[in-house]
Amino acid sequence: MHTPLCGHASGHPVEYVSKGSALGLDLMTFTCHIPMSDPDFGGPRIRMAHHQLEDYFRMVEQARVAGEEHGIEILCGIEAEVSADSGALDEMIELLNAHEFDFVLGSLHHQLKVYRDRLKRLGINEDDQIIRDYFNTLTQAAASGLYHSMSHPDVIRIYGTIDSASFCPEAYEGEIRAFLQSCVRSDTCMEVNTSGLSKGVYTLHPDPIILKWAREEGVKLTLGSDAHAPESVGQHFEKVLTCLQEEGFTTLHYYRSGQQQTTALTRFN
Ligand SMILES: [Zn+2]
Ligand SMILES: [Zn+2]
Repeated sequence: MHTPLCGHASGHPVEYVSKGSALGLDLMTFTCHIPMSDPDFGGPRIRMAHHQLEDYFRMVEQARVAGEEHGIEILCGIEAEVSADSGALDEMIELLNAHEFDFVLGSLHHQLKVYRDRLKRLGINEDDQIIRDYFNTLTQAAASGLYHSMSHPDVIRIYGTIDSASFCPEAYEGEIRAFLQSCVRSDTCMEVNTSGLSKGVYTLHPDPIILKWAREEGVKLTLGSDAHAPESVGQHFEKVLTCLQEEGFTTLHYYRSGQQQTTALTRFN
């Protein structure tokens, strides 16, 4: 879940907690976009500035206090960036080391200038090559151990870097399974991001076939709504939890103080 500090979300975190309370949630983790100095990772409409980090901690603390009243545990995470370019993340890694986030998501936002420039520089211009590069980059990122969970893992299918219609997971099973195996080896979770059902091609992130492979490979899951507004908290959870149970998953994971926690996967409400 996000905060207005990223410039493209709305509502105070306390309002997110109220929505979570109405839904009967018992734990929520805020994961706003991490500050990055390099403007190629996006400016004030994408992420908070470094000097706003204290505001972020203050907002999440207010949410935590509100959560106590509602019986909801509130955790403070961050949505960090993935990059294959050496050195591009040095400053971000320093920031992650300097703060005790409960939970760190790893996201490859392929629509950002930094990643599109990489593709140009390497002469990667066919959709097929881009998709392979995207999953190879995620595979390396999962192996780094820097992130607790890899977010919206097939988001490459939306936001225009490739033609949406050209993403057929079956054609990239080798790359995707390599990514899933990398998650297992480093004990990094994969996020099931329910926002995909509300936008783009209206499919869960990741695609159900990738969830099936994740089950076969033994990947652990975290669950996120990626809410950018209070009304999106818990979006599609009921449908997705049913889908995960049908797929054979019995547990979900979350992180407190960077430590992996396991909870039984039960139906919503
Ligand atoms: Zn966002
Ligand atoms: Zn994201």
